[in-house]
Amino acid sequence: MKILVTGGAGYIGSVACERLLREGHDVLVLDNLSTGHREAVPPQAGFVDADLRDRAAVRRALAGHDLDAVMHFAAASLVGESMEDPGKYFENNVGASVNLLEEAGARGARRFVLSSTAATYGEPDRVPITEEAATAPTNPYGESKLMIERILDWYGRLRDWRWISLRYFNAAGASEERGEDRDHETHLVPLVLRAAVQGGEIRIFGDDYPTPDGTCVRDYIHIEDLADAHVRALDAMGRGVSGVFNLGNGKGFSVREVVTVAEQVVGRPIGQVVAPRRPGDPATLIASSDRAREVLGWTPAHTDLRSIVESAWRWHRAHPNGYRG
Ligand code: UDP
Repeated sequence: MKILVTGGAGYIGSVACERLLREGHDVLVLDNLSTGHREAVPPQAGFVDADLRDRAAVRRALAGHDLDAVMHFAAASLVGESMEDPGKYFENNVGASVNLLEEAGARGARRFVLSSTAATYGEPDRVPITEEAATAPTNPYGESKLMIERILDWYGRLRDWRWISLRYFNAAGASEERGEDRDHETHLVPLVLRAAVQGGEIRIFGDDYPTPDGTCVRDYIHIEDLADAHVRALDAMGRGVSGVFNLGNGKGFSVREVVTVAEQVVGRPIGQVVAPRRPGDPATLIASSDRAREVLGWTPAHTDLRSIVESAWRWHRAHPNGYRG
């Protein structure tokens, strides 16, 4: 299939491209390189530098391409930032997705995989979270992804699209060649590893949450398992499936537990200091991925946190300056 991958120069999108190419698909990456890296795009993939907010630019970028499917990774994705700059999230995520649906649709695509998020649920009533749980985002990031899901539902009804929204819990880890490299890093696992290398401290955002050790609990999932789910989603849409699926391991780890596992992996203590809560953070997010297992036939291969952190550490050591070498 000919697949347009937006955000294919980013952390998760680039690993998905790797996987799609291995499966024999024809991949075209569209990315504005605002946070991604040209070096992260596999050389066998096509590449266009365009901004999804600019519909005319998207049309020009897709001219001459006959598309079957879209995988939409390109987005602003930081909970904290979305609380400070909500407009960026609604413009960059929601508005851009409409441009994408219109222009990719005009090039023939009728299958759409969305990178969505556990942040669509907000503070859950009960864990593990199933797809039937109420959606009440506690930040504009989660709200923006929920809005895209609603839009996809209408394109499904009115424009014949099949769509699958994959609600990721906490993506982490690395493939052999691709990992996390952001100019402004905010995510826990890469920051903990950086603190281990540079000897700094990791700030723990709040230790007074209603969790066993007071720090937030998250469900960490390896990016290669996420990539696998995307390929399965493409196949499922071929069988007529549309809808929302959680992707997680079903196990929660607190921020302190992540730091402890990282200390074991790197073999040295990592400094920790308790800082105020980060606005918009729910206390606990743990997935039930039963639906993905049953309908997509998806089984995550990297289920323990240690192997996820080890893969991130391997990449970090092999690429101390990220994609710059
Ligand atoms: N976190 C933290 N210190 C950091 C970065 C993150 O305590 O320097 C916490 C954050 O509050 C959340 C968890 O780690 O509870 C995971 O945050 P991350 O930003 O990695 O992912 P998110 O859950 O926002 O998708």
